[in-house]
Amino acid sequence: MSEHHTAICPGSYDPVTNGHLDIITRTATVFEHVIVAVVDQPLRKGKTLFSADERKAFLDDAIEGLGLEHVEVETFSTLLVDFARDHGATAIVKGLRAISDFEYEFEMNQLNRKLAPDIESVYVMASPEYSFLSSTGVKELATFGGDVSDLVPTMVADQLAKRIQRP
Ligand code: ADP
Repeated sequence: MSEHHTAICPGSYDPVTNGHLDIITRTATVFEHVIVAVVDQPLRKGKTLFSADERKAFLDDAIEGLGLEHVEVETFSTLLVDFARDHGATAIVKGLRAISDFEYEFEMNQLNRKLAPDIESVYVMASPEYSFLSSTGVKELATFGGDVSDLVPTMVADQLAKRIQRP
C-alpha cells in the first residue's frame, strides 16, 4: 500500500455517531487506507462516557457492518502528528459541521502545520442530515430517554440506554 494514500480520521468518538460514519465512509472513497484514530483521553472534552476500548469496539462493529475493508481503528494517546507519521499517513481528515467547528479547526490546523508541515489537513463538509449531530447532543438526548436510534449505530443506542438513561 502506498504511504501517500493513508489518511487519519481522528476524534474522541464518545460515542461514534452516524455523522462520524458518514465522514469515514466518504474519506474511504478518496483514500486507499484510512485509520480511524480514537483519542484515549481527550483534553478538550474532559472525561469520556465510554472507555477508549469501548469507543473502539463501537467503531470496529460499525465499520465492519459498512463493509469498509480498508478502514481500521486504533486508539492513541500521543501527539496526533506523531501518530500520523508513525503510520505513514500524509493526511489528517476532519469533518466540519457549523461555523462553530471552523474556529477550533483553524487553530488546530495552524498548530499541526507548524509541527508537521509534511502532513496536510483535509476537511470534509458534514452532510446536511448530520450537520447538527454531535456526540454531546446524542448523550444529552439519551440521558432523558430520547430516541437516538436514527443518530447512532444500534449497538451504541443500546449501550447508551444502559449506561446513562435516567430511570
Ligand atoms: P464530537 O464533536 O461529536 O464530539 P469528535 O471529537 O469525536 O466529535 O469528532 C471527530 C471528528 O468528526 C471531528 O473532525 C468532528 O468535526 C467530526 N464530526 C463530528 N460529528 C460530525 C458530524 N455530525 N458531521 C460531520 N463531522 C462530524
